[in-house]
Amino acid sequence: MNLIKLAFLLCIYCVSVLPVVAGQLLLTNGTLLDPSDQSISKQHLLLDETGIIARLDSVPANFAGQQLDISGKFVIPGLIDMHTHAFGNRGPNAQSEIMGPGTTAQVVLHAGVTGFVDLFGNEEQLFEHRRLQQQGLIAGADIYTSLSCLTAPGGHCSQFGKTRTIASEDEAKQHIAELAAKQADVIKLVSTIGGSLPSLSPVFLKASVDEAKKQGIKTIVHIHTLADIDSAIAAGADAITHLPDDAAITAELAQRLAANKVVVIPTLACDTDEYEFMFSDVLQSALAKQLAAPRIIQGYQKAASDMTPEQKQQAKQRTEKYYLSMKHLVAADVLLLSGTDAGNYGTLQGFTVHREMEKFVASGLTTWQALASATSAARQFLGKPAGLQAGAEASLVILDSSPIEDIRNSQKIFAVVHKAKLIN
Ligand SMILES: [Zn+2]
Repeated sequence: MNLIKLAFLLCIYCVSVLPVVAGQLLLTNGTLLDPSDQSISKQHLLLDETGIIARLDSVPANFAGQQLDISGKFVIPGLIDMHTHAFGNRGPNAQSEIMGPGTTAQVVLHAGVTGFVDLFGNEEQLFEHRRLQQQGLIAGADIYTSLSCLTAPGGHCSQFGKTRTIASEDEAKQHIAELAAKQADVIKLVSTIGGSLPSLSPVFLKASVDEAKKQGIKTIVHIHTLADIDSAIAAGADAITHLPDDAAITAELAQRLAANKVVVIPTLACDTDEYEFMFSDVLQSALAKQLAAPRIIQGYQKAASDMTPEQKQQAKQRTEKYYLSMKHLVAADVLLLSGTDAGNYGTLQGFTVHREMEKFVASGLTTWQALASATSAARQFLGKPAGLQAGAEASLVILDSSPIEDIRNSQKIFAVVHKAKLIN
C-alpha cells in the first residue's frame, strides 16, 4: 500500500472516531412527563449536547437544527441504573455474555438507560473507560462508578477479583483518599455481619463513612442482614443496597431508615426475577430479546426444567420476604432508587431497570414515584440536575405510551436521545 493511500485510510479512520459535535435538536408536539415535579405538559423541547435549552410553546421561526415531530409520544428523562456491574450478563449453566463496560454502555442505551452506576468491577478498566468517555472519545451511556469495593480482607467482592480491603481505620482513610483522588462518583462499602464471609466491623464502616463525608463523596453500603442495616444507619451512610436475607425489614426499622434519610437501592428484581425468568413470559418481551443473547434466554427456560419442587418453594418464600421488606419501606416513605445489580443471575443489562420499576409499583409506589426512582431521584442522588427543565441533561426516552398509565409502557421505546443525539 502506498503512503498516500495509507494516509487517506487513516484519515477516514480519524474522522470516524472523532466525536460528532451535536447540534440542536427540537422535539415537537410530544407530551412531557417530568417525574421531578410530576407534571404533564404539551410543549416542544429544545436541546443541544450541553442539556435542555428550553421548553417552548411554539416552534421558532427559521429553526436550523434537527427537528423531530413526536405527536402522540411521551417524553421522560433518560433512565439511570443505580447499581450495576457492567461486564455483561450472567445466565444459567455458565451461559454468560461478556461485554465489558464499553459494549454494555452502548447496549443499555437501547433500553433507554442513558447512565449507570457501576458498583465494582476492574478498577483500572472502569477508570479508563470513564476518562475516555468524559473526553468524548467513546460513546455509550454515561458511566458513574465507585471504581472499587471496600470490604474486609477476604470479604464479599474479593471472590470476584482484585478489590480494596480494610483492616484498620488508617487503611479506610487511605483507600478513600485514593478513590477521591481518582474522582470516584460514590464509595461502595460492604457489611455482611453474620454472613459466611468476613465483614467490615461497625467501627471500620463508620470510619470509612466519616472519611467519605470529609471528601464529599456519598456512600452506598452493600448489606446482607438486618444487623448490617443497623450498622449502616449508625455509620451515617447515605444509602444501602440490597434487602436483608435473614429476615424482612420491620416497620420500625423502615421508619428509622426514613428518619435518618438513608436511601435504599433494593435490587428487588435481582432477588426475585430469577424465578420469573424461568416460569413466566417475561423474557419473551421484545425489549429483552433485543438486549440479550438468545442463549441467555434459552438458558433460563432450560433451568426451569431442572428446578426441584423444594427449590421452587424456597424461591417463593424468599420472594415473599423481600416484598414484605418493600411493603414496610414504602409505608415509611423511604426514598427508593432503581438499581439492578445487573451482571448477576436473574438480571439483564438495561432490561432489568424496567423490571425494577414494575416491581416498585407492585410494592405500592405510584407510577410517578417508580419513574422518579430511575430518573430524577437518581440524578438528585448523583448531584445532577433532574427532570425535564432547562439545564437538565439532554438524555431522554421517547415512549409510544404513557408509563404514568402503566409503568410497563416504559418498555415501549420509540427512540432514545443521549446528549441531544438520537440513538434509534
Ligand atoms: Zn452488586
